[in-house]
Amino acid sequence: MSERTLAIIKPDAVAKHVIGDIIQRYESAGLHPIALKMVRLSKKDAEGFYSVHSERPFFNDLTTYMASGSVVVLVLEGKNAIAKNRDLMGATDPKKAKAGTIRAAHGASIEANAVHGSDAIETANFEIGYFFPEFK
Ligand code: ADP
Ligand code: MG
Repeated sequence: MSERTLAIIKPDAVAKHVIGDIIQRYESAGLHPIALKMVRLSKKDAEGFYSVHSERPFFNDLTTYMASGSVVVLVLEGKNAIAKNRDLMGATDPKKAKAGTIRAAHGASIEANAVHGSDAIETANFEIGYFFPEFK
């Protein structure tokens, strides 16, 4: 079934100049961008986006990091887009991510791990609406 998911190319990957490589991977996997923008998140923007993690010990570091540089935010559409993107991304910790995944290729640390991807239909709907209210 065709689905939509929200992806973010995080500040570490933008700084490494691998935006093009990452978008190529999405397109090659049949995940087609239907919305895309480059933005610099404020700390408050990052906190709102990651509010499900507000009780986690790494919340302050994570949201500071996400506001530390520009990010590219995309809505990707395709068959099983949510699960497919999670496979393409690899494990949260780049050291544990399978060879060939985006995080294995480009992630610097468990925090600066190159990309975000929605993990379920409900979170995808929230995250898409957070950045692209016109797609809600
Ligand atoms: P994922 O992005 O793989 O869905 P989570 O939803 O668990 O992972 O965490 C959200 C983000 O928080 C991660 O992508 C990563 O940037 C950061 N993060 C997760 N776990 C840690 C940790 N133990 N220490 C620092 N940052 C973390
Ligand atoms: Mg997550």
